[in-house]
Amino acid sequence: MIIEKRGRQKVTHIIAIANQKGGVGKTTTAINLGAYLSKQRKKVLIVDLDPQANTTSGLGINKNTLSGSVQDVLFNPPSVAGTLLETEFDGLMLLPARPELATTEVTLVNEADREFRLKKALEQLDFDVILIDCPPALGLLTINALTAAKHLLIPVQAEYYALEGLGQLLETVQRIREALNPDLELLGLVLTMFNSRTSLASGVQDEVKRHFGDKVFKTVIPRNVRLAEAPSYGKPISEHDRWSKGAKSYKQLAKELTDRLK
Ligand code: ATP
Ligand code: MG
Repeated sequence: MIIEKRGRQKVTHIIAIANQKGGVGKTTTAINLGAYLSKQRKKVLIVDLDPQANTTSGLGINKNTLSGSVQDVLFNPPSVAGTLLETEFDGLMLLPARPELATTEVTLVNEADREFRLKKALEQLDFDVILIDCPPALGLLTINALTAAKHLLIPVQAEYYALEGLGQLLETVQRIREALNPDLELLGLVLTMFNSRTSLASGVQDEVKRHFGDKVFKTVIPRNVRLAEAPSYGKPISEHDRWSKGAKSYKQLAKELTDRLK
């Protein structure tokens, strides 16, 4: 009886997009994956958990005029529903960030249940997919994301130092599994900013595959200027230039990810 009930319960796939290395494509992946998952008619929320608030501005939202943000939610998880914003893109929703989020880690550190704040907030929501865009660090914000998520998606920039730091990230994941969230799994790694004209990029691809095998998504995100300029228009690539190589690759990634979640 109980099993049957559970079987009917709607599953929310919570995916943390994390890599403590900066500038590897976490935010670009969050925005564009979110946009294409919304186009698949899924109910999608992106959580901007980075004080840089790049996801928030990349979706065309002025971070200086917000009434509430993820920071408020971390201090008061039940307030989450009132903080969500609907974007202009196929019903894609956003839990926005403001630069003040930078001080949250320091203030939150003495609070009870500090690692579970985001989990408590997200548990109240009804979405098909929640993507969490993490900051480039392994501090309390990223720990909140990895405690709330079932899945971890790691963007890896196809360049020389790509694998550096991944060991530390996976050690953190292991510690979080043991202490905070036994359900956390590595969903996969996605190669970003791939330049097919260089042998370096394919060398990095081979090395990542050697280490992570099937966990590496078949879809590779190319280096594409249209992807880089889309945030300045406050749009995902699906709206900025849907025929670009970057758009096609994120659409493909959304498909592959949906299959993997089944
Ligand atoms: P941070 O660690 O600072 O949060 P990030 O991991 O979120 O960075 P992004 O902000 O997504 O990385 O990307 C870093 C920069 O590279 C941005 O200027 C972005 O527009 C650009 N960029 C990301 N992906 C691509 C791509 N496939 N092709 C070209 N430029 C890209
Ligand atoms: Mg980012």
